[in-house]
Amino acid sequence: MGAFPAHPENSETGRSLLDPFGRGITYLRVSVTDRCDFRCVYCMSEDMAFLPKRDLLTLEELDRICSAFVDRGVRKLRITGGEPLVRRDIMTLFGSLSRHLDSGALDELTVTTNGSQLARHARDLAACGVKRINVSIDTLDADKFRRITRWGDLTKVLQGLDAAQNAGLKVKINTVALKGVNEDEIVSLLEWAHGRGMDLTLIEVMPLGEIDGQRIDQFLPLSLVRARLAERYRLEDLADRTGGPARYVRVKETSGRLGFITPMTHNFCESCNRVRLTCTGQLFMCLGQEDAADLRAPVRASESNELLERAIVDAIARKPKGHDFIIDRRHARPALSRHMSVTGG
Ligand code: SAM
Repeated sequence: MGAFPAHPENSETGRSLLDPFGRGITYLRVSVTDRCDFRCVYCMSEDMAFLPKRDLLTLEELDRICSAFVDRGVRKLRITGGEPLVRRDIMTLFGSLSRHLDSGALDELTVTTNGSQLARHARDLAACGVKRINVSIDTLDADKFRRITRWGDLTKVLQGLDAAQNAGLKVKINTVALKGVNEDEIVSLLEWAHGRGMDLTLIEVMPLGEIDGQRIDQFLPLSLVRARLAERYRLEDLADRTGGPARYVRVKETSGRLGFITPMTHNFCESCNRVRLTCTGQLFMCLGQEDAADLRAPVRASESNELLERAIVDAIARKPKGHDFIIDRRHARPALSRHMSVTGG
């Protein structure tokens, strides 16, 4: 049972959310903090200014909004950030949301993490019904790991991975492909991940937020990575789709699954089933657009969920068809001013 009582108006079911293009919204990603204990060079600048605590949704408010979405047909919740596992008492939220797994209203509760706090939390996550997690690792070289994350300790992350697997969590590794940084390591990352029974997903760097460098210098098209891998491995296309941007192949030689997230070279919007909530209660209907709906005001305005529900339905009615990111020399500025840590990866 969760720590927070079920909201009285959250008992109705079967009122699914459909956007103007007929896409059912069944997946909510929730950023629970904009803070992180790493400063990955492609994600944040070193001197990030973080939000004052009062602007953040409380854990109870996060639970209420998530539950309102579950009530309207959302079947999958992903907790992300910033680094979600650095938020104080975050396990209370996992504990309370797990009631929707118990009731069958939710298929999956999951998390995307940098792994730094996993050794501490893996068993509790599993106890809350989390079955699979995504862990972001861009290199297996400790020095390079420190350079990419600025503050990260690879040993600690690897201990976290061990703890996660020992707790029975299925792990998928997310790796941002970075030109001249880890492109020579893709094969070893793949062999390592598949050797440990973990899927690997490669991600193209996206133009989100001001960083201390030029995006074009980091951008490595995954079409190139895939072509290189195809010289070495037999890659069999898989039909597995998550409604998200990833396309999967089976690597015949390792029997592992490899995903490609290619927002820059491939548009994936037509099957989009997701929306994203920030830690201040802004609902982004598209990762690649500026439009957002404020859900914090309706949550704080009333104890009943009526205003909140109306705000959610109105927001989904504004979900755009898609986005168009551009990275090139002429577009040196980020396509969007907010960082990935705001909307969550
Ligand atoms: N702290 C958690 C983590 O490290 O996974 C969750 C948040 S992080 C923003 C989620 C994912 O977004 C990570 O895999 C990260 O590498 C990726 N990411 C961050 N900025 C990105 C960017 N500009 N382009 C592509 N991926 C990015």
